[in-house]
Amino acid sequence: MRKRSDIPDYILKLLRAKASRSPCTYKISAIAFDKHGDVLGHVTNSHSTFDVLCKVPLGRAGTALHAERRLFNRYGGHVKTIVICRVGANGNILPIDPCPACRRLAAKLGAKIISVLPGDGKTYS
Ligand SMILES: [Zn+2]
Repeated sequence: MRKRSDIPDYILKLLRAKASRSPCTYKISAIAFDKHGDVLGHVTNSHSTFDVLCKVPLGRAGTALHAERRLFNRYGGHVKTIVICRVGANGNILPIDPCPACRRLAAKLGAKIISVLPGDGKTYS
């Protein structure tokens, strides 16, 4: 599914800036909203040595704790929507999809994960 974005520009700007500060090879950020549409918090993905549910090989970076997973860990059932965004070295938006483990966790908590798509950042799936 591909939709025009109702994600405000300042959120997209924040997501791109945040993702560019990720320590991982795949630079990803995520922002969580509660049921009122208020921002709960935003994070980047990060390296992890303890997380087993959501550990995936990422080349030289080793393993990463997914940004969306970090938000679920932090805010649990308060999370209604998470928007994830991946950027390249020059800040351009790259394709990103939540992994099956994060999808399952979202479904279990009744939350939805939205991916910002490449281009002008105005479409998502
Ligand atoms: Zn994941």
